[in-house]
Amino acid sequence: MSQIPEFKNHIAGEWVAGADQRPNINPSDTDDVIGLYAQADAAQAEAAIAAAQAAFPAWAASTPQQRFDVLDAVGSELLARREEIGRLLSREEGKTLAEGVGETHRAAMIFKFFAAEALRGGGETLASVRPGVSVDVLRQPVGVVGLIAPWNFPIAIPAWKIAPALAHGNTVVFKPAELVPGCAWTLAEILSRTALPKGAFNLVMGAGSQVGQALVDSPRVRALSFTGSVATGRRLIAAAAARQAKVQAEMGGKNPLVVLDDADLGVAVNAAVQSAFFSTGQRCTASSRIIVTDGIHDRFVEAVVAKMKTLKVDHALKAGTDIGPVVDQRQLDQNLRYIDIARREGGTLAFGGEVVERETRGFFQVPALITGTTNAMTISREEVFGPVANVVRAGDYDEALALANDTEFGLSAGICTQSLKHAAHFKLHAQAGMVMVNLPTAGVDYHVPFGGTKGSSYGPREQGSHAREFYTTVKTAYTFPG
Ligand code: NAD
Repeated sequence: MSQIPEFKNHIAGEWVAGADQRPNINPSDTDDVIGLYAQADAAQAEAAIAAAQAAFPAWAASTPQQRFDVLDAVGSELLARREEIGRLLSREEGKTLAEGVGETHRAAMIFKFFAAEALRGGGETLASVRPGVSVDVLRQPVGVVGLIAPWNFPIAIPAWKIAPALAHGNTVVFKPAELVPGCAWTLAEILSRTALPKGAFNLVMGAGSQVGQALVDSPRVRALSFTGSVATGRRLIAAAAARQAKVQAEMGGKNPLVVLDDADLGVAVNAAVQSAFFSTGQRCTASSRIIVTDGIHDRFVEAVVAKMKTLKVDHALKAGTDIGPVVDQRQLDQNLRYIDIARREGGTLAFGGEVVERETRGFFQVPALITGTTNAMTISREEVFGPVANVVRAGDYDEALALANDTEFGLSAGICTQSLKHAAHFKLHAQAGMVMVNLPTAGVDYHVPFGGTKGSSYGPREQGSHAREFYTTVKTAYTFPG
């Protein structure tokens, strides 16, 4: 039997063994152990924070060119290795190979975008209201930032936190999700070979309750960027606010996709199936609530089910697989529990939902569509985070919009219609941070802001030039030449 490789944390420029190790298991094949990954404890998290603090003056003083060179080199290497890293991503998280490679490509583009962002910098100079005085509004790095990521985008989410943090002169302690340390370690290894000062970037793999909590509690961590569940996010926001740290949190969704009578059926079916079930439905922007007006409802459901029947659920790395496995047993149990609740509350399982066996032992589930649901049912209120979507009927556009907005969440919302009037109205009145017209609710560009409203998000937006709001602090400087 071949030896299982072991991977360490990266603290103060050194590779450091953890207090413990955790196996990284392939959800397509639970006999496949990708590696044993170090698990830091709170003391090691503290050491990483201290290293980031020590490195801060040097990196904060780096030139835009130095920052560009580091980030551009990381982007180029990700691009060159996207097939290999994409394969690792699919192996540890379970999305298909095409999705894994696509996500790695996206991470590369994010690093390249923020390389250029380091050159663009920020700040402005204004004339004072007082004669002879000038005013500079300076953008300065915040300090040590703690970055906490979920498991569903193992390389894109770390990229869209690490790249802007470094571009704006901050130093980083990064804690990936327990289920996907492989891509995080690979990214750390690439960063370790750049010209970053030792300690400017630290990787601490480990439990949220230990390593994550240490980042949340440390007064030396001046800003926290979190993506994950609502429950963890809300605790983190409260703790950060109590010690006056900057905080940004992207959390769950129950994203509506409205389909109106006048929609192009092919476009609507594609948008629904793509955003509800691809990446195994494990996307915060997934269309999990499909709101369909009466005139198209039956034709739409029939066409969605026909399309679902063609989707191949299998090993993520197998050619021809459309839908990879669910990430783990816990998530699979949660998916099944929500399907059960939906049926007990009166919904009809129109298609799918069953657990299936394949050649390898994995967490394979056929995507599920539940019809006959109302917006009051549990399935319409709570995030499942799996390949499970439900259909709610609406009489007309006004009712559909009201249903779409009747949720505590506000991440992404979509509408399929050929009516310019309804599309324009929806773009203005959908209560969500991102709105899509005739497109899936999931799938966004890398150079523009990303984030939600209401219960989905807290703090400034991530990505694009807007990332500057979180990763810099503003200083206003007045000068009178004398
Ligand atoms: P999670 O909240 O369980 O974990 C997220 C991260 O927080 C992990 O790294 C975890 O270790 C860490 N953590 C756990 N306890 C902690 C603590 N006490 N202190 C600090 N950190 C702690 O979420 P998950 O299951 O990994 O991810 C799924 C969730 O993420 C879903 O709700 C999904 O909607 C959400 N998500 C949101 C977005 C977005 O941008 N809005 C994107 C992707 C995923």
